Amino acid sequence: MMSNFQDYDVVVVGAGHAGSEAAAVAARSGSKTLLITMNLQTIGQMSCNPAMGGIAKGQIVREIDALGGFSGMVTDHTMIQFRMLNKSKGPAMWSPRAQSDRWLFAAKWRWYLEQISNLDFLQDTVLDILTEGHRVTGVQTSLGYRIVSKTVILTGGTFLNGLMHVGNRKFGGGRAGESASKGITSVLCDLGFETGRMKTGTPPRVDGRSLDYSKMEIQNSDDAPEKFSYSDTPPLTDPIPCHITYTNPQVHDIVGSNLDKSPIYNGTIKSEGPRYCPSIEDKIHRFSDKSRHQIFVEPEGRQTVETYINGFSTSLPTKVQLEALRQIAGFERAKIFRPGYAIEYDYFFPTGLRHTLETRGVEGLYFAGQINGTTGYEEAACQGLMAGINAHLKWTGKAPFILDRHQAYIGVLIDDLVTKGTEEPYRMFTSRAEYRLLLRQDNADVRLTPKAFDLGLVSADRFRNVARKIRESQQLISFSKKNSADPKQVNALLEKCNTKPLNQKVRWESLLTRPQIHLEDLKEISAFADFLQSEEIGKEAQRDAEIEIKYGAYIQKEYESVAKLQKLKNLKIPEKFNYSKMNSLSIESREKLEKNRPKNIAQALQISGIKPSDIQTILVALKR
Ligand code: FAD
Repeated sequence: MMSNFQDYDVVVVGAGHAGSEAAAVAARSGSKTLLITMNLQTIGQMSCNPAMGGIAKGQIVREIDALGGFSGMVTDHTMIQFRMLNKSKGPAMWSPRAQSDRWLFAAKWRWYLEQISNLDFLQDTVLDILTEGHRVTGVQTSLGYRIVSKTVILTGGTFLNGLMHVGNRKFGGGRAGESASKGITSVLCDLGFETGRMKTGTPPRVDGRSLDYSKMEIQNSDDAPEKFSYSDTPPLTDPIPCHITYTNPQVHDIVGSNLDKSPIYNGTIKSEGPRYCPSIEDKIHRFSDKSRHQIFVEPEGRQTVETYINGFSTSLPTKVQLEALRQIAGFERAKIFRPGYAIEYDYFFPTGLRHTLETRGVEGLYFAGQINGTTGYEEAACQGLMAGINAHLKWTGKAPFILDRHQAYIGVLIDDLVTKGTEEPYRMFTSRAEYRLLLRQDNADVRLTPKAFDLGLVSADRFRNVARKIRESQQLISFSKKNSADPKQVNALLEKCNTKPLNQKVRWESLLTRPQIHLEDLKEISAFADFLQSEEIGKEAQRDAEIEIKYGAYIQKEYESVAKLQKLKNLKIPEKFNYSKMNSLSIESREKLEKNRPKNIAQALQISGIKPSDIQTILVALKR
């Protein structure tokens, strides 16, 4: 068939968060790229809540931005509220979160993608993955196109054999209002991939005009909202508040007495869902001792009254949803725009992937996003970015780009998926990372932008900005280590901050390690303020230096443990190492090692269930 869709370097299937990042980065790297998606109107669509970031997820968005991805910029442009979460905890836990205008978010994504000259678009459904031997050669679409490509990135999200549930009603679909993607799963199974089924759910959207906000608590944006992107995106100037209300025993009674109508409870849905994102049915059933649960009432955008009811994810019949909602303070006259629903979909075992997200079974074929068993826009977007980078590097014959666990949450996520797999929708948490103090949201640019510059993904300007930030931060640390505060200069301030005055001079560094003293306080002391001003130390460098000083001892410990782990990584395990004959390993350990095939001892240690004694056995065998 004649078409303008001729040979490509990279074909990306799906334009959700994974697909959009993948297509953008592959095309910007220089690959002739085609983005095929079932509906061009839903590029970058937020299927569930209109928010980006949050605990650990905010760090991922900063990392994506530091690597030259677009999710952070799209969020900044469309933000309606910003909050830095966990501000009362240490800096490793600070996590940016923003509410976005849902429609603007998708529109901005499309706009960014359309600015990339060698990126083509096709609205169509991919039905088949074309291969020759164990190599991908392209895709076949429902309109009859056979499109040749050197690499293919699949990002089908929740669409593969998607089945939605509201009460006892079931209907095929990838998300509300969109059809499911059929055919791909069986094609991939024929190619030898292992598949499973997962589920997730979403709350009802209601008419904001039907709510009484005077009965709810107001939740405002931060006074000084920050941004996700390190580039010059606009700051948020006109935030919209969210509101908080609570469920109550009446709500719990209605939900509790209708659990048999919920497909999650009556056995209709058997697949695994996200435990940490429980439905209202789950919350009421599992935490029956709690008399109330928090509900966040979040606007969906500036130009609409539609409102997202965060915390009320459900698959109960619409009638029950409405009845229960109306018991909540402020919801007495609520009207539902769209009911909540649950969805089941196919995913593929991520242990079948390499760290580049290329599948082990078919060369040149990559999987990214929810298809790998993850949940969340941020988790999907960062996989898309990494798959896009690596697909480009692959066909151009360059070395792959892999991030280590101590370099990025993205590295933690991919390493977890590939080495451990997942049996429930995988979401990022700070607790998954061993080196939380190294992987802060504020230093993602320091960690990653130099790498992105080497890959050609960020401008020289952005690289220079990071180099300047690093230099200024080092200058400030060095000044604080070498120079001392005089008791006469600082004692009044120390008393004001409720900390012990000095008897003799002490280094500024030592003052800053006191929990009561912040760099902002020291600006009141002229010697310190003069240094900052004369050396023109920027705000971000100041924040970086303060954290490095305050948490220096802990940060050092993390570096030492990275070095130890590096030694274990250097102990390579041959690709064809035979575990099956190692009788001193338990059968379970042998099976896990055979399945995961760790490349080195550090990876073997990461596999859940592998014990230190197993590692000793492998080390002895390796020595032999
Ligand atoms: P998606 O955003 O799903 O995008 C997939 C894309 O692939 C779509 O554009 C689709 O058109 C396209 N596509 C699929 N098959 C084909 C094909 N054969 N040919 C061409 N195009 C194709 N995340 C959370 O973090 N918390 C939640 O509470 C939460 N709840 C959710 C509730 C629901 C009902 C849904 C649907 C999702 C929920 N999510 C939640 C998940 C979140 O939406 C996803 O993690 C995220 O969107 C995944 O991004 P993705 O790019 O992998 O896939």
